[in-house]
Amino acid sequence: VVGNANLQRLTYRERAAILSKIAAVLTANREEYLRISLENSGSSAADAAIDIDGSIFTLKYFARLGAAMTADRFLLDGSFESLSKDGAFQSQHILFPLKGVAILINAFNFPAWGLWEKAAPALLSGVPVFVKPATATAWLTQQMVSDVIQADAVPPGSLSLLCGGARDLLDHVQSNDVVSFTGSAETAERIRSNASVLQHSTRINIEADSLNCSLLGPDVAAGTPEFDLFIREVVREMTVKAGQKCTAIRRVIVGSGVMPAVEEALAARLEKIMVGDPRNPAVRMGPLVNKAQQSLALAGIAALKSESRVVFGESPAFSAVDADPRVACFVQPTLLACDSPRSAGQVHRVEVFGPVATLLPYESSQEALELAAWGGGSLVGSIFTADDEFAARAMFEFAANHGRVLCVNEAIGQSQTGHGNVMPMCLHGGPGRAGAGEELGGLRALAFFHRRAVIQSAGNRIESLRTHGAEFRP
Ligand code: NAP
Repeated sequence: VVGNANLQRLTYRERAAILSKIAAVLTANREEYLRISLENSGSSAADAAIDIDGSIFTLKYFARLGAAMTADRFLLDGSFESLSKDGAFQSQHILFPLKGVAILINAFNFPAWGLWEKAAPALLSGVPVFVKPATATAWLTQQMVSDVIQADAVPPGSLSLLCGGARDLLDHVQSNDVVSFTGSAETAERIRSNASVLQHSTRINIEADSLNCSLLGPDVAAGTPEFDLFIREVVREMTVKAGQKCTAIRRVIVGSGVMPAVEEALAARLEKIMVGDPRNPAVRMGPLVNKAQQSLALAGIAALKSESRVVFGESPAFSAVDADPRVACFVQPTLLACDSPRSAGQVHRVEVFGPVATLLPYESSQEALELAAWGGGSLVGSIFTADDEFAARAMFEFAANHGRVLCVNEAIGQSQTGHGNVMPMCLHGGPGRAGAGEELGGLRALAFFHRRAVIQSAGNRIESLRTHGAEFRP
C-alpha cells in the first residue's frame, strides 16, 4: 500500500529517473556482483556479465523510454470514439497503473536480470515490486536489493524481497496484484492453480521451459557463410552459462545431406572448449549451479540417449580443469543426434538445462518446419538461410509457435544479437509449453502492470481527460 502510493504520486518521467538511479547503484557495485556470481553460481566473468550488465542495460533502456513519456498518471489507449450522432457522447479507453503489488518469482539462472527485466517496467508503471528469487542463487538478488535500498534509490515500500521458500506467499494475492513467474513448467502449474490466484482472478505471467530450435535452411551447404554462422551460434548457445539459459538451442534441425558436415564442424569446435574452474583464464565453460542441477542434466541426457546417439561428449577422459569431481558440478558439452526424429518422443519433450543439444535431420523443407513446431511452443527459434524465399516462408511458420524468430543470413552475420540474447526492445515469451507469457518488448511491457478501462462521458470531459494522459504507442 505504502509503496504503491509513493510510486503513483510520481509521474512516469519521475519514475524513469528512479530506474536511472538503480542502474547507477548496480554499476557502482558491479565488481562485488561478479564476485558473488562466481562464488554462488560458479559463473565466469563473461557469463556473470550477461546477468549483471544485462540488468543495467535493461534498466537504462526503460529509463530512457520513461524519460520520453509525456503522460503523468495514466496512459491513453487509442483515440476517443464518438458514441452519438451529435458527437456529444464519447468514449476513451485508458490504461491505469494497478493499485496492488507485482510479485516477481524468479528462476535460479538469472538472479540479477530475472529481477530487473521485470522490475523496470513494473516500477516505471508505478507498481511496487516484491521479489522472490530462487533459493539456490538468492545471494546476488539480496545484495542488489539491499544496495538499492541503502542508497535510497527507491521510495519506501517500492522494493521488497523474500529469500527462502515461497511458503504461503501466493495465498495472500488480491485482484489488483500481479504475479510474474519464471521457472519450470511444473511450478508454473502450481502457481496457475493456486486457490487465491483463482479466487481473485489475479493476473499472472508465466515464462516456463522451452525446447528452442535452430534450423539450417535446405539451401545451406558446408563452407558457406550461413553454415559457419550457424555452427558458431549452436556452440555458443550450448556453452554460454553452461547451457543454463531458457533461450538456449536444444534442438538443432538440419538437412540429412549436410548432417555429417554439421556433426564434424560442431564436434571440432566443442573439442576446443576448455571446461573447468572459471578462475582459470583459459577456461571457456564453467560448472552448473549445483549438484542437484548436475544430476538433473545427467538424467536428462540419459533420457535423450534412449532415442539418440552421442556425437560429442560422455568422454571417459573428460575432466574439468582445476576441479575436484567429488564436489564440482560440471557437465561435459554433449551433442546428440536423433536419427528418426518423427518417431522420437523425448527430444520433443525433455528440456536438459545444461550444455546439451540434439541434432534432428530432415528430408524436406516441409518436414523441417514441422519438426520446429514439435517443440510445442518456444521462446525463440532461429533460421539460418541465404534463400530469401525460404526465409519468408519459415519466419511466418515459426511465428505461429515461437515468441521470437531470428532469421540470419550473411548480411547480418556480425550485427545480429544472437539466438539466446533477450533484448529489452523485443518481446520475450513464447506460446504453449513456454508458458504463453509476454515480457519486455519496449513499452508493451507496461501493459501487464496497467488495467484497461473505458470512460464514457460528455465530449468536453473526455477532452479534459485526454489532456492528462498520453497516447500509448508501444
Ligand atoms: P523452479 O524450480 O520452477 O523455481 C522457480 C522459482 O519458483 C523459484 O524462485 C522457486 O523457489 C519458486 N517456487 C517453487 N515453488 C513455488 C511455489 N509453490 N510458489 C511460489 N514459488 C515457488 O525453476 P528453476 O529450477 O529455478 O529454473 C529452471 C527452469 O526455469 C528451467 O525449466 C528453465 O527453462 C526455466 N526458465 C525459463 C525462463 C524464461 O524466461 N522462460 C528463464 C529462465 C529459466 P525455490 O528456489 O525457493 O524453490
